Amino acid sequence: MTSTVHRTCPLCEAVCGLTLTLDEGGHVTSVRGDKEDPFSKGFICPKGASLGRLDEDPDRLRKPLIREGELWREAGWEEAFAAVRAGLERVADRRSVAIYLGNPNAHTMAGALYVAPLVKALGTRNLYSASTADQMPKHVASGLMFGHPLAIPVPDLDRTDYLLMLGANPLESNGSLCTAPDFPGRLKALRRRGGRLVVVDPRRTRTAALADEHVFVRPGTDAYLLFGLVHTLFEAGLVTPSHAVNGLGQVREAAKHFPPEAVSPRTGVPAEVIRRLAVELATARTAAVYARIGTCTAEFGTLAQWLVEVLNVLTGNLDRPGGAMFAKPATEPGVRRGRPYAVGRWKSRVRGLPETNGELPVATLADEIETPGEGQVTFLLTVAGNPVLSAPHGPRLDAAFRQLDFMVSVDPYLNETTKHADVILPPPRVLQSGHYDFALLGFAVRNYTRYSPPLLPLDGQPSEAEILARLAMIASGLEGDLDAFVIDEMLRKATETPGSGVEGRDVAELRAALEGGTGAERRLDLMLRLGPYGEWAGKGDLSLRKLLDNPHGLDLGALEPRLDEVLRTASGLIELAPRELIEDVERLRGRLAEEPPEIVLVGRRHLRSNNSWMHNVGPLVGGSNTCTLQINPADVARLGLGEHAVVRSAKGQLTVPLEPTDTIMPGVVSLPHGWGHADSAQSVAADHPGVSVNALTDETAVDVPSGNAVFNGVPVSISPTGVIIAQ
Ligand code: SF4
Repeated sequence: MTSTVHRTCPLCEAVCGLTLTLDEGGHVTSVRGDKEDPFSKGFICPKGASLGRLDEDPDRLRKPLIREGELWREAGWEEAFAAVRAGLERVADRRSVAIYLGNPNAHTMAGALYVAPLVKALGTRNLYSASTADQMPKHVASGLMFGHPLAIPVPDLDRTDYLLMLGANPLESNGSLCTAPDFPGRLKALRRRGGRLVVVDPRRTRTAALADEHVFVRPGTDAYLLFGLVHTLFEAGLVTPSHAVNGLGQVREAAKHFPPEAVSPRTGVPAEVIRRLAVELATARTAAVYARIGTCTAEFGTLAQWLVEVLNVLTGNLDRPGGAMFAKPATEPGVRRGRPYAVGRWKSRVRGLPETNGELPVATLADEIETPGEGQVTFLLTVAGNPVLSAPHGPRLDAAFRQLDFMVSVDPYLNETTKHADVILPPPRVLQSGHYDFALLGFAVRNYTRYSPPLLPLDGQPSEAEILARLAMIASGLEGDLDAFVIDEMLRKATETPGSGVEGRDVAELRAALEGGTGAERRLDLMLRLGPYGEWAGKGDLSLRKLLDNPHGLDLGALEPRLDEVLRTASGLIELAPRELIEDVERLRGRLAEEPPEIVLVGRRHLRSNNSWMHNVGPLVGGSNTCTLQINPADVARLGLGEHAVVRSAKGQLTVPLEPTDTIMPGVVSLPHGWGHADSAQSVAADHPGVSVNALTDETAVDVPSGNAVFNGVPVSISPTGVIIAQ
C-alpha cells in the first residue's frame, strides 16, 4: 500500500513544495513537484527529485558515535550525552568553548528554534557560522542602513520591469537571500512581459545566457562598478529617492571619486556601459538591483551590498512594487524591540576582528584554537557544518581541529570535519522531521507560509530539536522542558506588550490553547498566532491548525510597501551613509589605482550540488557536476597548458583537471567549492573526490566591515603539471 504525502523541500532556499510517494516501509518511491503549492506551482529541480536517495543514504549515521583512539564505536544516546557532559565539565573557562553552525541550520526547525538557547547556555562569545563565509556583508549593510540585519530587501521578481543582477546565478542556485521557487521561470516571465534582465558576472553563466545583456566584470570589483553607477546618477540628475534619508550628501561626495572612466580599467566594464546601465536603471518604470554570493564573498563585500541598496534608494525603487521590497513572514515578531544595530560590540581574541550579528568570523577560528592564552578554544561543538571544506584555508583548520581537547558534532555524516569529533550525534532522517522555513520566508518574493509535519515516526531516535535542547540543558546545568520555558517567556512578554494582540491576557490560558505534538510545533503555533497574520495578533486567522489543514501551503499575497514597519534605525530614517561604510570607502579608493593580479580565482555553483552536502548522492554527482577548473582557452594557449594544471596561491597548490571554456573571462579561473572528499567515509563522495578550493583561499583576507571570508578574486598562478616553480 503506497501513500502520497506533501512536504517542503529542505535542500535549498527555494522552498519548493514536493509530492512524495511512499511505500509501506516508508521508502520514497517517487518525488514530484507539488502542483497545488501556490508558490512553487509544481517546480522541482534534480536535487529535490533526489530527496529520497539523500534521506535514505546508507552512509548516514543512525546511532551516535564515540571515538576510542583512532576508531569509532556506536553508542546509545544516553552514553553519548554523558560523554558530552563529561567533555564539557573538563572545560574550566567557558570562553574556551566555541560553536560552529553550518548552513543547513537555516533550513531546519531545530536550527531556527534551538540554536539560540544552546549558544546562550554554552555561555561563550565564540560563535562562528557559515554566514561569515557567505552573506554577512548583506546583514551588515542592512543592519547599518535599515537598523536590522534581517531587513534585506528582495527584487520584486514578478512585477519588476528591469533587474540588474550581480554575482548571482539562480539558474544553478535557485536563488539565495531571495526565496523564489522556479527562479528561472520567473526570470523568463520578466522578459516575456517586456522587462529587461542584465547580468553582471565574470562568467557567462546559464543565468547570464538567459539575460538580455551580460556584462563581464573583473572579480572583486563590484563595489567600483556600483559606485560608477551611483556617480552617474548624481552626474545626470537622476537621483529621485522615494524616502527620507540621512547622508545623501555624503554618498554624493563619496561617489565623486569613482567616475565611470576611473573605475572602468579596474572593473573591465567600459565607461559607456556603466553610464548606460545607470540611465536604464533610473528611467525604467520599475527596477531592482540584486547582488549575491559573488559580490558578498569579496574583498569589498559590504561596500558592494551597501551600494546595491543605495542604488535601489536613489532610483526610488526601494519598497515599492516592482522594486526592491521587504517580505512579511508569518512568524515575524509582532513588536520589534531592541537597540539600534551595531557591529564590533566585541572583538576576536587573536586578530581583533569585529563581532557581527553576535558572531566572530570563521576566518579566524583556527587562530583561536592554535593561539595559547586565556580564552584559547579547546572545546568545539559543530552543528551541521563542514568548515574543513567550506572555510578559507581549510587545511589549517583541519590541523587546528586535531589540537582540540574535545569536539562534539551534530551531523548525519562522518565527514572531513566530524572525523575530528569525540562524539557525533546524528539527527534523524529528513522525513522524520517537521519542517518550517523560519529564516527563508523572510526573504520571499511573495508572502507565503507552509508547514510540513514529520512523515515518519522517530523509532526511538531523538529529533534534532531534542538533541539540541538536550545539549542546551547539559550546557546550562539546568533540568526541565526548554520549550515550556521559551513559550512561557514569549507569552509573558507578549501579554505585557501594548498592541501585541494578547496584552493583559492570562499566560496559562494562552499556553493551554497552543496545539502541536512536539515542543517545536507548539512554538511554531505560538509564533504564527502572534505573527502579522495570526489569530492572536488580531489581523488574521493563522495558526498551526490552519497550516495542517492546508498541506500545500498558503499564499499570503504579493509584497507590499512596509518600510515604516521594517526601519529600526535610531533616526527613524534610512541611513544612506553609515559611518563604518564611509570609512571603508577610503580602503576602496586606496586600491583603485593598484595593478590587479594577472589571474584570479572565483567559485561556482552547480544545479546538482549545494556546498558540500550532496556529493554522496549518486544521481547528483558526475557528468557536468565535477570538480574542474574553468579557464578561458586563450589562457590555456598562453600558459601552454594540457589537460591538467597546477594552481598556486599564497596558501597552497592543487593539481586540477581543466575545463577550457570561453564563458569565463581571460585572467579568471573558476573552481567549485565543497569538494575534496579523498579520505571520506562517504562511499559515493570518495569515488568523486575532487579537490577543495579552500586549500587555495586565504583566511587572512577578509572584508573589513563584516569579517566575511574572501573567496572571489583570489590571486593565483597557473602552470603546466611537471613544472617546478621556485618559491
Ligand atoms: S529548487 Fe531547491 S527547494 Fe526546489 S526542489 Fe530544488 S533543491 Fe528543492
